[in-house]
Amino acid sequence: MEKIMQGRMDRGFERYQKEYEDKAIAVLRSGWYILGKEVEAFEEEFAKYVGTKYSVGLASGLDALWLAFKVLGIGKGDEVIVQGNTYIASVMGITINDATPVFVEPDEYYQIDADKIEEKINDKTKAILVVHLYGQTANMAKIQEICKKHNLKLVEDCAQSHGSLFNGQMSGSFGDIGCFSFYPSKNMGAYGDAGAITTNDPELARLMKIYRNYGSEKRYYNMVVGANSRLDELQAGLLRVKLTHMEDITKEREQLGAYYAEHINNPLVIKPSVRDGATSVWHQYVLRVPTEGGAKDSVTTGGEPNTRDKFKTYLEENGVMTLIHYPIPPHLSEAYEYLGHKKGALPITESYANEVISLPIYTGMTKEEQDRVIECVNAFRI
Ligand SMILES: *Cc1c(COP(=O)(O)O)cnc(C)c1O
Repeated sequence: MEKIMQGRMDRGFERYQKEYEDKAIAVLRSGWYILGKEVEAFEEEFAKYVGTKYSVGLASGLDALWLAFKVLGIGKGDEVIVQGNTYIASVMGITINDATPVFVEPDEYYQIDADKIEEKINDKTKAILVVHLYGQTANMAKIQEICKKHNLKLVEDCAQSHGSLFNGQMSGSFGDIGCFSFYPSKNMGAYGDAGAITTNDPELARLMKIYRNYGSEKRYYNMVVGANSRLDELQAGLLRVKLTHMEDITKEREQLGAYYAEHINNPLVIKPSVRDGATSVWHQYVLRVPTEGGAKDSVTTGGEPNTRDKFKTYLEENGVMTLIHYPIPPHLSEAYEYLGHKKGALPITESYANEVISLPIYTGMTKEEQDRVIECVNAFRI
């Protein structure tokens, strides 16, 4: 039997293949490849999609993050609040600027627990970085209120949340800056590396354009030490094509998520739930498989296989591939040893790392494939 991949990009390409190929040829023949009219048009269309005044195309999601803190003037001696259970790029966006990440535990929806933010705020706190993890928006009403009360900047990591809403408003339009990745496997993936920021502030948009191009607004006149983080014409053109299909792409993922929710019924697994007022675009469909008697160490971190690991192996043996997002929380990664966090510092984050598992989900997933995954999930026993 053919394996069911955890994520695959070929089906999404094939669905709109002719449009992508026509666009690619047009860009290749145009004689202009970096920062041109495709990028300009994309920035305008993407800002309109998200519901902000401006968007600036960049080379990656990580660049969007670190440049966001850079243009907000956040750096050495400053603290930024972020959830413990995120992809490490969120944290690197903070630390590349020599600012300090202050971790907050997630809630039952895997988003930052808004009720635990205020206890971490002090004189050094400058911003909150909200990650709309797995495609679901965080509790934005509460978080906006906290930012206002404490005069903090709000940055959103939307690398997994293209198109997801909170009270009808799109992620990426709540804060000072929204940071997007278009890495190929994201819901709105390009065909190479790409990223962007969104903002309503013309000065932040202007600064971002300066920073992405060696700190210059006028050629060979460099105002600041910037980066090379330009979006190229080919990716911008391909993203413009994808943007016209985002409504369908998102609707399909919502249906895939709903189908899993309806049919998975194994008491050993905990299905994800969605907060009132929020939507999920199911960048990942993440189950939790707790181990009786508490979350045991996982093989992914060098311990004994726990129930989640056994579940993963069982699915794999039946041709269903899965991934763990993420096995090692940033505060326990070797890269952040210097922050001095010890095991046990973030018990909820750490137990999630031992329990989460992401099922296959992708554009073009067939009902037969999803039924096979569901059958396997429901047949698992300890
Ligand atoms: C993918 C991702 C990023 C980084 O995006 P790149 O384009 O790979 O640099 C940042 N944050 C989160 C939550 C991500 O999933």
